Amino acid sequence: MTQSFHPPVRTLMGPGPSDVSPRVLEALGRPTIGHLDPAFIGLMDDIKRLLQYAFRTRNALTMPVSAPGSAGMECVFVNLVSPGDKVIVAQNGVFGGRMKENVERCGATAVMVQDDWGKPVDPHKVEAALKANPDAKAFAFVHAETSTGARSDAATLCRLARDRGVLTIMDTVTGLGGVEVDLDGWGVDAVYSGTQKCLSCVPGLSPVSFSARAQEVIQQRTHRVQSWFLDMNLVMAYWGGSSQRAYHHTAPINALYGLHEALVVLEEEGLENAWARHRAHHSALAAGLGALGIGFVVEEPWRLPQLNCVTIPAGVDDAALRRRLLDEYNLEIGAGLGPLAGKVWRIGLMGHAANRTNVLFCLGALEALLGRTGGVAAARSAYEATAKSA
Ligand SMILES: *Cc1c(COP(=O)(O)O)cnc(C)c1O
Repeated sequence: MTQSFHPPVRTLMGPGPSDVSPRVLEALGRPTIGHLDPAFIGLMDDIKRLLQYAFRTRNALTMPVSAPGSAGMECVFVNLVSPGDKVIVAQNGVFGGRMKENVERCGATAVMVQDDWGKPVDPHKVEAALKANPDAKAFAFVHAETSTGARSDAATLCRLARDRGVLTIMDTVTGLGGVEVDLDGWGVDAVYSGTQKCLSCVPGLSPVSFSARAQEVIQQRTHRVQSWFLDMNLVMAYWGGSSQRAYHHTAPINALYGLHEALVVLEEEGLENAWARHRAHHSALAAGLGALGIGFVVEEPWRLPQLNCVTIPAGVDDAALRRRLLDEYNLEIGAGLGPLAGKVWRIGLMGHAANRTNVLFCLGALEALLGRTGGVAAARSAYEATAKSA
């Protein structure tokens, strides 16, 4: 007989999924109800309102796509981009490359603006591309590049595009809940995120939001959206504003209980407090890593507190060390991707996982396996210093 599956209990400090809050895990096990049950409609309304809070937007078209972040990405591109369109795409890591792929699969042309991995998107290059391509319909960029740990200046990038009447598309899968996201303040027209990063929910849902301007573009399409499942014109019959909701697909009921709870937790803490908590634990981790002689890939002002991309010390076997962390400490950290493979580790401090216990635990484990000292002590001093100044 096949046995029931009981996963090992890990500490997840990689690029996602992150540790899921016990409150979310508990919510997932509540009784399943029908997806048109009046009680469920109330939960959907709550989720829309809470996502508007998390994204800082009044966009009516704000909801979770019933599939992971990659589906949120497809949803945004297939709805906004039509064959023959031109889209400027900024790439400074893995995820900008996926945007290009999406644009091309929509039958459109991607004009690439390249920056080195680990650097933020350069607004000067974006401005030059916008000037050189006055016929561009949209500009797409990654706010929080999970492959490198770099944050880009979303406010400036969006302003440049909007000043020229170009739609802005932003990936903030790793940003939401971890660093400032301000859709309305920045003027973002379409955004997608994920639940398994700084929201500390289970993977498999993708919050998206479209501005009124983007919604108009979707409604006025002459060419049908190539994806039936992700066509917002159809999805809105179920998620739309009115109380009349029609069947489109069966919503992932229990996963949405989880998202609801994750967003309730975020609202209780307060957005600004959540961002400050990520910063505080990042600072302590950075102090500890510095004492262990481990440096960062990204320059300080552009570092994402929730994704610490650090250089593997010379002579250390990357895969073997990560394997020992997993086997001996039940601790997962992330490997490097693409040109950074074998060169960096990606240490996540996402959502619920951004806490003092994890920071000290991770530093203690690295210290022991690397045969170095001083990491935990440096992090503890950093915590004491902030406690005193507070
Ligand atoms: C994780 C991630 C995605 C993809 O999300 P999935 O839920 O894995 O499909 C997209 N963009 C960025 C920046 C990410 O970090």
